[in-house]
Amino acid sequence: MQKRWTIGEIKKFVETNSDSKLLTTEYQGFSQKLEFECACGNKFEKTFKKFKNNHQRKCDVCQPPKASR
Ligand SMILES: [Zn+2]
Repeated sequence: MQKRWTIGEIKKFVETNSDSKLLTTEYQGFSQKLEFECACGNKFEKTFKKFKNNHQRKCDVCQPPKASR
């Protein structure tokens, strides 16, 4: 069963599990892109699913996306 996250829980998860901050104030579902602020000050967008399950918890500068080849 999939847990239903609230924006408050996500914010807490982000603060507890990363150095990033959550800027988005409304959460509509796993497919929604949320806006984060990285510890370096860069802003980046990511779905919460990727943030949580794929450990993509920083901006593309601090954590470059893996080349898929
Ligand atoms: Zn960064």
